[in-house]
Amino acid sequence: MQFYSTNGQSRQASLEEAVMTGLAPDGGLYMPERIPIIPRAFFNNIGEMSITDISFVVANMLLGEDIDAAELKQIVYDTFSFDIPLKKISDRIYSLELFHGPTSAFKDVGARFLARIISHYSKSTESDVNVLVATSGDSGGAVASGFHNVPGVKVFVLYPERGLTHLQRHQFSSLGDNVYPIEVMGNFDECQRLVKEAFVDKDLRERLSVTSANSINICRLLPQMFYYFYAYSRYLQMDPKGYETDVVISVPCGNLGNLTAGLLAKKMGLPVKRFVAANNLNDSFTRYLDSGNFAPCSQHPTIACAMDVGNPSNISRIIDLYARDHTAINNDIHGRSFTDGQIAQCMSDTFRTFGYLMDPHTATALMALSDDLSQQESGIFLATAHPAKYNKTVMDVTGTSATPPINPTNEAAPTRHDTPKITPSLPALKKVLLTST
Ligand SMILES: *Cc1c(COP(=O)(O)O)cnc(C)c1O
Repeated sequence: MQFYSTNGQSRQASLEEAVMTGLAPDGGLYMPERIPIIPRAFFNNIGEMSITDISFVVANMLLGEDIDAAELKQIVYDTFSFDIPLKKISDRIYSLELFHGPTSAFKDVGARFLARIISHYSKSTESDVNVLVATSGDSGGAVASGFHNVPGVKVFVLYPERGLTHLQRHQFSSLGDNVYPIEVMGNFDECQRLVKEAFVDKDLRERLSVTSANSINICRLLPQMFYYFYAYSRYLQMDPKGYETDVVISVPCGNLGNLTAGLLAKKMGLPVKRFVAANNLNDSFTRYLDSGNFAPCSQHPTIACAMDVGNPSNISRIIDLYARDHTAINNDIHGRSFTDGQIAQCMSDTFRTFGYLMDPHTATALMALSDDLSQQESGIFLATAHPAKYNKTVMDVTGTSATPPINPTNEAAPTRHDTPKITPSLPALKKVLLTST
């Protein structure tokens, strides 16, 4: 498979180039040059298949020319070391719980797959590969955990000095070894900008091999397609009339990686009717759906903070996937946005009525789904974080705290003491990278 840049100014790249550089040289995001269509017959048996079997079929159609089947199967198998249950919440509404991985957020799936693909390619290079990731909370832990002790790889987690919970910081600061946290005196957007600047810095690129583990990296995005197919298979298993019912999937959106993966799955043949994009007050995407014009906005802090993104990077992939046809985009995606008050109301109502505790991101998706679903349709919302990961908000809103999962990143481990704190400037970042490598 070859990958093209959404900016159209770079030549096509191999899988290896796309993964190992993250961003195309023209600053665009990589997309697969063609989207294979899964034969209809696959969906006749999907209800009986395991997540690894389903994922391998999809992965092999996309990456089978580049990675040997036995190894790809192993990578898929290692990615899904945890369960992704589909739970029935009410009559026609289901929750896909993506948060049972090591860091309790859906980002574990993309990060674990990406780490294994990078490790596959780093075997052939002599020097270490340096993976940079900017985090507003959940990515840092997922990427650090996914890459911890992967040979030939060093991970640098750039995080803003304010806004992360103790647990989130702990998830990447307690690992040590090849995981290097860097505290940035600035906000998340500044962390993200620094990472982008590092990629296009010629001097740095000549001295180090650097790539990104944010959802701009195509191999963090592609594995997120797998669980959309799996969700559909579990739904067919649970609802005997499933084949005859229209299915709608609701996605809580930040950088739009998760939604883009769903749209790609639909293009590959996943029989869902449409998606609902759920935003908090950072609603530049839902406003784009209404108007056809994309205008980034500045970041507003909300209780669903992993979705506080004013300029979502994957929008260029979505516009490209639909060849700029705004009507086609509106057919496949409905958008809804909510205030903190509405999100909190949904958390408390759902807990009171169904006994189901949700984190604020998941609640945003459920709220959007409830608003958008019509009588004859069934809906699945993506539960992207464990409620215990946002326990303070869960407690404040519902009066109940969630039981934390038994987590392999143990609470007692010491926090790294040599964490550098830098100004949001490229020279400061370069200094840290060059002295740690
Ligand atoms: C990152 C994140 C999101 C947003 O996902 P995108 O792929 O960036 O749109 C939603 N919920 C949680 C819990 C997250 O950590």
